[in-house]
Amino acid sequence: MRIDAMVLEETGGALSFAELELAPPGPGEVLVRLHASGICHSDQNAIEGIDPVRCPVVLGHEGAGVVEAIGSGVTRVSIGDHVALSWAPSCGQCTECRRALPHLCSTAWPAMGLGGLLDGTSRLSRNGETVYHYSFISSFAQACVLPERSCVPIPADVPFEVAGLVGCAISTGIGAVWRTAGVRPGERVAIFGCGGVGLSALLGAVAVGAAPIVAVDVSEQKLAFAAELGATDGVLWAGSAQETAEAVRAVSQGGVDYAIEATGRTEAMQAAFLSTRVRGAAVLIGIPRPDAVLTLPALSIPRMERRVLGSIYGSTYPERDFALTLDLYRRGRLPLDRLITHRVPLAELERGFDLLRNGEAIRAVVDMEVAS
Ligand SMILES: [Zn+2]
Ligand SMILES: [Zn+2]
Repeated sequence: MRIDAMVLEETGGALSFAELELAPPGPGEVLVRLHASGICHSDQNAIEGIDPVRCPVVLGHEGAGVVEAIGSGVTRVSIGDHVALSWAPSCGQCTECRRALPHLCSTAWPAMGLGGLLDGTSRLSRNGETVYHYSFISSFAQACVLPERSCVPIPADVPFEVAGLVGCAISTGIGAVWRTAGVRPGERVAIFGCGGVGLSALLGAVAVGAAPIVAVDVSEQKLAFAAELGATDGVLWAGSAQETAEAVRAVSQGGVDYAIEATGRTEAMQAAFLSTRVRGAAVLIGIPRPDAVLTLPALSIPRMERRVLGSIYGSTYPERDFALTLDLYRRGRLPLDRLITHRVPLAELERGFDLLRNGEAIRAVVDMEVAS
């Protein structure tokens, strides 16, 4: 079938609107008509080459839509199902999957970087030339073909734009709090970086009854928004990791149990670590540059039992956590829709990235139903 898509022709280049050929789903694959797709910093990193991808490529990995066709052997979804898309199609059989770490699946991760689906080949082309997939999803398009294991059925009354964000930013943030850290009621939390992922972590901390919840950002405006979503205190970045950490420790009566770092900047990681109390942990979610090195004061690690916890995809198990998260949203316990501040049509994707880059948007979403 022919589809409209936004294509990144080369690293560092612009996104161009193009008509592509999308092959039908193969065995174990599903064709999804996309309705919404969030615009994420990981897409931005791919454009800039911080996290290089094979080009030409259709980016986008925070999508949701409706199943339109299924390949042979597909049992997980049926035609007409509403689905949120997961970029971690775990195999269920590798060493990591068997020890209950499906988000670290050792089959899916190596395949992801090759730009194909799980068999290494692409379903996207243009005049016979291969166009690559991104993170198995490529949701900046009218439709996509992806592994069945990337499709998580959702209730039909959930807005597609919220479900799309659950596929990446929301699960990354909330999961870091619920799954990686396992925050309990009354524990003290700080959130470094109040974008889509950081504010998702904040909503997760509010939902489990953490207190205080200290928001940290370089923007007064973002801190004000964090307060609306339930942050008890706000700390403006003070220019250095040391000074910022001191401010967080002051408002949290001596430091936090968990400092969630969502910017990927090493100074913010240091500040997060220094903000923790004894037995506290810095939880690192933000993706740093590949050559970044993190320097920490070593003595306080044994002396204070401080810890550093890495977290990818919120240590999420999509089949379990997407449903749980969306159920809390439907019951009014997680106001996830508040994270969506802007909507753009597919053809204006570049404007969506501008809104992300200049900090204006918490989350901008490509809405396939908005006319250009
Ligand atoms: Zn696996
Ligand atoms: Zn993402």
